[in-house]
Amino acid sequence: MSDFEILDPRFKALIIGHAKLERLWAGCRWAEGPVYAPAAKHVLWSDIPNDRVLRYDEKGGAVSVFETPCGYQNGHALDGDGRIVACEHGARRVSRLEHDGRWIALADRFEGRRLNSPNDVVVKSDGSIWFSDPTYGIDGFYEGALAEPEVGGCYVYRFEPATGRLTAAAKDRVRPNGLAFSPDERVLYIADTGETHVQDHPRAIHAYNVGPDGSLRYDRVFAVSDAGFFDGFRVDWRGNLWTSSADSVRAYAPDGALIGRIPIPEIVSNLCFGGRHRNRLYITAQTSLYAIYLNTHAAGWRWDQR
Ligand code: MG
Repeated sequence: MSDFEILDPRFKALIIGHAKLERLWAGCRWAEGPVYAPAAKHVLWSDIPNDRVLRYDEKGGAVSVFETPCGYQNGHALDGDGRIVACEHGARRVSRLEHDGRWIALADRFEGRRLNSPNDVVVKSDGSIWFSDPTYGIDGFYEGALAEPEVGGCYVYRFEPATGRLTAAAKDRVRPNGLAFSPDERVLYIADTGETHVQDHPRAIHAYNVGPDGSLRYDRVFAVSDAGFFDGFRVDWRGNLWTSSADSVRAYAPDGALIGRIPIPEIVSNLCFGGRHRNRLYITAQTSLYAIYLNTHAAGWRWDQR
């Protein structure tokens, strides 16, 4: 029996029909924010309510605690120098793990006011760091600590590490969440989970055109979910978007068509590409870390230059 559900012939070329979904570890309260660190050959991911970051050793299969307490970290990304960039609900900031082991703050205020609780992050090839800032880490004491929002909205920000400049790139989302660029970085996809706070708000991923100056221009609704929220997601090298949902990983073609599903027995929060060839999809879902091999790989990984 296949672990893939093919909804469009295009999906067939992206999968390995007999590859099995592996449950690598269970024991989280809410697993989120996976990132693959190629040099360390490990996956890090967040267990937000337990205020810890876990580590899966890809070679030996062991799981251990990488960092705790960790400021209730959520989303992670790798920058161009191989450093981990983290969204911290607790400290309400975006931080970076230096090669000497220190976590340093990159951004914690916008126009003098504290950020809400950075949720997910992506690093563009020019070094700029883009992150979403909904309120989930300050809505209560489970994934952070209850606090009043100070910024007058939930924005997507663009941070320039070289200058320290923080710009609100998108102010038109209700609760921006997952983020990813298209392979040519001309499109930024943003998930909006605003239905948690605004009744009947569409559970959608939106596409924005990215200008040469880093500005965003709204383009279109890319996809609407019929099964829970789109939270975190990633884009493969062909521009297909692989996203979380309540019951599965869903794959969308660049034209927005739902082409296939990978059913997961828990609520999927996020995912990332990893493995030597970046063709192994690591999936965080509620209590667990899962993985499955695909016949496609991460955008931005230049396999043809190795
Ligand atoms: Mg998220």
